[in-house]
Amino acid sequence: MFKIHVSTRGFTDIIDITSLVKSQIEKEKIKEGVVCLFVTGSTAALTTIEYEPGLKKDFQEIINQLIPENKDYYHNQKWGDGNGFAHLRASLIGPSLVVPLEKGQLVLGTWQQIVLVDFDNRPREREIVGVVVKGE
Ligand code: ZN
Repeated sequence: MFKIHVSTRGFTDIIDITSLVKSQIEKEKIKEGVVCLFVTGSTAALTTIEYEPGLKKDFQEIINQLIPENKDYYHNQKWGDGNGFAHLRASLIGPSLVVPLEKGQLVLGTWQQIVLVDFDNRPREREIVGVVVKGE
């Protein structure tokens, strides 16, 4: 098991963590299998994207349209922390990701990066937990 720590700015901050995952994988004895990644916390998510400025903006825009910040969410009424939108966005994208591992390398598309997305309404310190599971 390994852990990765990342500082974020919140508000759909999209951070490329591919190289951080790679450097952890290099320390692993298991060379064939899958890497399971999980971000702890209910206002962040993991996914993959082609990490380029246009798509980052497109992603932020579509998320804003789907789940706007300023709606009167029940969560905000109950807790007053104003981040109902962040919880909903995180649930929609999901907290985990599985990436195949072959010959000690992550199996990713040429333009596919692993990203942490922080949806919270403030900067956060995030922890991503990784486990490598042996395959054939
Ligand atoms: Zn909340």
